[in-house]
Amino acid sequence: MSDLRELYQQVILDHNKNPRNFRELPEATKKVEGYNPLCGDHYTIYLDVDGDTIRDVGFTGSGCAISKSSASVMTQTIKGKSKEEAERLFNVFHKLVTGEPGDTSTAELGRLAAFSGVSEFPARVKCATLAWHTMRGALEGKEVISTE
Ligand code: ZN
Repeated sequence: MSDLRELYQQVILDHNKNPRNFRELPEATKKVEGYNPLCGDHYTIYLDVDGDTIRDVGFTGSGCAISKSSASVMTQTIKGKSKEEAERLFNVFHKLVTGEPGDTSTAELGRLAAFSGVSEFPARVKCATLAWHTMRGALEGKEVISTE
C-alpha cells in the first residue's frame, strides 16, 4: 500500500508542477470561474463543446497542489468525452474523494485513483473537486462556481 501511496503522490506532484491543458482556449464556447474560498483556490475552466462532445478543455488560475493537479487530471479525463460521460466521471470522482463506495475498478479509474487518499482529509475534498464542480457548472450554463 505504501508503494501505491508513493505512486499517487508522484502523480499529484507531477500534475501540479506540469499541469496539462494549462491554457486559455480562444475558441471556448464556455468559460467558468471556480473559487474555493476556504483554501484560496481560483481557476477558470474553458470548454469547447460541439453538440454533445467536449472537444477541448483548458484551465488557468492558481491554488494548492491538490486543486491544480486535480484540474489538470480532470481536463485530460474529460477531453473528447460526451457531456453525459463527463457527468458520469464527475460522480465517479466525487465518490472516490468523499470515500463513498463506488463500483468503479482501479483500472477504470486510471489516473483519477491518485486522488483516493483525499477522502482521509475532508478539508481537501473541496480542493480536489473544485475543477470538477466548475466543469459541471459550465455544462449547466453557469458562470461562477463557489464551493461555499
Ligand atoms: Zn486547495
